[in-house]
Amino acid sequence: KLRDGRPPRQMPFGPDSLTRVILVSSGKGGVGKSTVTANLAVALAAQGLSVGLVDADVHGFSIPGLLGIPAGTQPTRIDDLMLPPVAHGVKTISIGMFLRDGEAVVAWRGPMLHRTVQQFLTDVFFGDLDILLIDMPPGTGDIAISIGQLLPHAEVLVVTTPQAAASDVAIRSGLVARQTGQRVIGVVENMGALTLPDGTVVDLFGSGGGAAVASALSETQSVPLLASIPLSPALRTGGDEGVPVVLSAPDDAAAVAIRELAGSL
Ligand code: ADP
Ligand code: MG
Repeated sequence: KLRDGRPPRQMPFGPDSLTRVILVSSGKGGVGKSTVTANLAVALAAQGLSVGLVDADVHGFSIPGLLGIPAGTQPTRIDDLMLPPVAHGVKTISIGMFLRDGEAVVAWRGPMLHRTVQQFLTDVFFGDLDILLIDMPPGTGDIAISIGQLLPHAEVLVVTTPQAAASDVAIRSGLVARQTGQRVIGVVENMGALTLPDGTVVDLFGSGGGAAVASALSETQSVPLLASIPLSPALRTGGDEGVPVVLSAPDDAAAVAIRELAGSL
């Protein structure tokens, strides 16, 4: 438990807040949502913005590893507020910072998940942020619904791969977000074609998913394809090593695409 039995604090990211809240969602897991979110957060912080990152994927948290936050790192407690650890300039909170050795979040259901996400938003002292990114879990289940209720004014970035199996689910996640009043501001296509130095094109996941999602979500308002991020070994190893590619290999094509995405927001 993060906070025992006390009533929740007021939400600092309500509609009157000056902080932009951007959810990164995808519907399908494994499309690179967390990798993109971590890199985007670091790229925004490198532009001089004050950036927070909430890891809302409670069952499948991965943000601490992607940002190189050492295991065992905990928020600093001051009375009943928590100061989030800062990694590569990003104030970050994740359930991974609250689990003891070997503890797992295996069987948590809706109410517990809701409380956890709510406390991330109310009991963690982020200070004045320009942007709060939220790495969403896959699917449109309990956490997505809770966040829809807690942050109805949030903006949404939808991540997909070029493959129809991912883009079909991504479209549904965008439509569900919209049902709770959130605004889809754009689509990010990840794992696109990689061109090797000898000119060989590696397009494992085909093409067209990002454009398909953008077009399907543009029926009532125009939703642009904001970025196409190629398959990138450096993006993957940057995540494995906890140094995002935007810092570890800034000239990598994926790093360039993510910086451009950060600049377009
Ligand atoms: P999600 O959060 O959507 O489940 P992850 O960010 O965990 O996805 O990414 C899934 C896997 O794919 C990770 O191993 C990550 O390193 C890898 N990955 C993500 N994007 C790329 C990319 N553009 N090129 C190569 N590997 C990638
Ligand atoms: Mg993830």
